[in-house]
Amino acid sequence: MKALVKNSDSHGIWMEDVPQPICKANEVKIKITHTAICGTDLHIYEWDEWAQRNLNLPLIIGHEFCGVIEEIGSGVTHYKTGQRVSGEGHITCGYCRNCRAGKRHLCHKTIGIGIHRSGAFAEYLVIPETNIWPIDNIDSEIAAFFDPFGNAVHTTLSYNITGEDVLITGAGPIGLMSTAICNFVGARNVVVTDVNDYRLKLAMKMGATKTINTSKDTINEYFNELNMVSGFDVGLEMSGNSVAFNSMLDNMYNGGNIALLGLLPNNTKVNWDHVIFKGLNIKGIYGREMYETWYKMTQMLKSGLNISKVLTHKLKIENYNEAFEIMASRNCGKIVLEW
Ligand SMILES: [Zn+2]
Ligand SMILES: [Zn+2]
Repeated sequence: MKALVKNSDSHGIWMEDVPQPICKANEVKIKITHTAICGTDLHIYEWDEWAQRNLNLPLIIGHEFCGVIEEIGSGVTHYKTGQRVSGEGHITCGYCRNCRAGKRHLCHKTIGIGIHRSGAFAEYLVIPETNIWPIDNIDSEIAAFFDPFGNAVHTTLSYNITGEDVLITGAGPIGLMSTAICNFVGARNVVVTDVNDYRLKLAMKMGATKTINTSKDTINEYFNELNMVSGFDVGLEMSGNSVAFNSMLDNMYNGGNIALLGLLPNNTKVNWDHVIFKGLNIKGIYGREMYETWYKMTQMLKSGLNISKVLTHKLKIENYNEAFEIMASRNCGKIVLEW
């Protein structure tokens, strides 16, 4: 089968012919129809320091996908061939304390597809039955990026945001989807910051109350316009940028809640006075809750949440290099590749 393989420690990714994966007893084999490119895939494509530290090559990359079940293992009980599905890319152990407590997103033995084992940028993918998520009548091109949509839902619904003033730092695809979710569940102000005007424009389309390019303006000069007294109730950090995170701390209201999704550099300096004297709560977010986040994602889409505007580019898989270059330019939302 065709697959996008990282096979050498240099810039790029290559289409190769590789053996099809074998579907074992409790596994499901999916014929991939659509995939989406994640920031993680770009790290691997560019072969940066993170990728060099974390990956063993060769590797079929990719973890955002949608497809049709082609084959089921002998022990599979809940799925049939022909069903359209997406799936959770974190494969958890099932036996550790957190797994057994129903908190599988906190499993300390998590294996990521497209990172620790063969990924989804291939004609076929095999994953455990428990990781399958049926998508019913949701568009395949949307289901292709359920993984980051799940990051957005997990982060955004971490706190009660109804009627609250929310600051989202970072208007990448996950920040953009969070913007739509905040609106959908009834936040009062949804303010989005970034330094990229293309993405800030998209944030307005996703329902932001106000976007601020922080390379030109400061956040608090808009408090009056937004009828805000002294800061945000909820902060969703989606940029992984230390300046953005510190500007969030500056602009939080006392007792505010912050969820951190963006990966901040290890040398990030934090003004702890804000955290302590304002009594802020800070929570780290990783992945999606299995499978409560997936349930919420699906039901919100079915009840009217619209995230389709985050999808800005659709390309055929043959044009994967062009897709990675668009991704690297950052002038895009989600990019979906058709197989
Ligand atoms: Zn991803
Ligand atoms: Zn576990």
